[in-house]
Order: sequence, then structure tokens, then C-alpha cells
Amino acid sequence: MTSTPSAPRLVLATRNAGKVAELRHILSAAGLPYELVGTDAYPHVPDVKETGVTFAENALLKAHALAQATGLPAIADDSGLCVDVLNGAPGIFSARWAGTHGDDKANLDLLLAQLSDIADEHRGAHFACAAALALPDGSERVVEGRLQGFLRHSPAGAGGFGYDPIFQPLEETRTTAQLTPDEKNAISHRGQAFRALIPVIRELLG
Ligand code: IMP
Repeated sequence: MTSTPSAPRLVLATRNAGKVAELRHILSAAGLPYELVGTDAYPHVPDVKETGVTFAENALLKAHALAQATGLPAIADDSGLCVDVLNGAPGIFSARWAGTHGDDKANLDLLLAQLSDIADEHRGAHFACAAALALPDGSERVVEGRLQGFLRHSPAGAGGFGYDPIFQPLEETRTTAQLTPDEKNAISHRGQAFRALIPVIRELLG
């Protein structure tokens, strides 16, 4: 008796089910026959310290740690908001800009206060995302995505997370917190980086 071979597994360094679903959708739209799982499927995998100083370094650190811990090809992303007048800050510190990791409201309020005197024409910013693929043999690739826009003076919209309520993409009249998830994924830094992984996965995994 023959059994159908199961799809090869890829693991994504996140416990966020939304991120897994987004990348799963991109892989299947590209016709890549992988079974994508999040880190929840591997509870023994330790959290990795993000000691890099760029999005790419942190994405690679997380992808390598996960590939070593699971023995599977692993993908990780790292992202943040880069503000022109702050020379790219908060950047890799986006999640803990106000001091406590993941306090979205405190981070957003602090950034708005820091920019309170800055006029509209100087409020340019972009979201950046690096996505890395690492294999258990140590091979690696990293790609990047970027969404250009500017920062509003006050929050608008209830969707998204983080700095979305004050970020308005170029050529949009709404903030990213006012876009539907599909609208945001179609233009977002993370959507772009994940889509840029497709040729990389084909190249490294066949
Ligand atoms: P992470 O790389 O997904 O952990 O994101 C790091 C931080 O960057 C988040 O905590 C947010 O503050 C910010 N960030 C990254 N992507 C987005 C986004 O799409 N919208 C709003 N904030 C974001």
C-alpha cells in the first residue's frame, strides 16, 4: 500500500496566529506545497534575545535559533517604524519605545509627544520588515519590505496594532488602522517581505 507523501514542513518564528495565516496564504497563492506551522507547535523552543542592531540581524538570529531547535527550515521576521526626523528611530526599538515591551498605547503616546512640534511636511516615516529563511545546515537568506507614509497628529481607526492608528501610507486617505486586514496585507512592509521570500524558498528548498 502506498501513502500520499505529506507536505514538507516550514516553521515560522511567531505565536501570532494571524501572522501564520498571512504567510500560509502567500505560500499557497504561489503554489508552494509547504505545511507552515508557528512556534506553538514546538513548545520547547526557547525565546531568542534580539541582540542585533538591524531588522535583518534580528530576523536572522530568530530564524537560525528556530532552525537549530526544530531541525526544520525556519522563517522569522522583525519589523518596526522608522521616523525621518528621528533618524530612523524607534526602528528596532519600536516595540519597547516607552520602556515596556509591547505597550502599544504608551509607545504611540510617547512618539506623538516627541513629534508634537513637527509640521506636516516633516512627518515622513516608514514601516520596515526583514524576513529571514534559515536552514538547519546554516544556510540563510534575508529579504526586506517597506511601506512609506507619514504620521498623523492624532490616532484614527481601531484595526491593526502598534503605531497603525497614526500611520497614513502614501496614496492613502486612511491610517493603516482604518484599512481591512486584506487591504493592509496587500501593501504592508510584512506582506512585501513575505512575498519576497517566495523566490528565496524556491531557490533554497526547491
Ligand atoms: P514585531 O517585529 O512584529 O515584533 O514588531 C515590532 C514593533 O514594531 C511592534 O510592536 C510595533 O510597535 C511596530 N510595528 C511593526 N509592524 C507594525 C505594523 O504593521 N503596524 C503597527 N506597528 C508595527
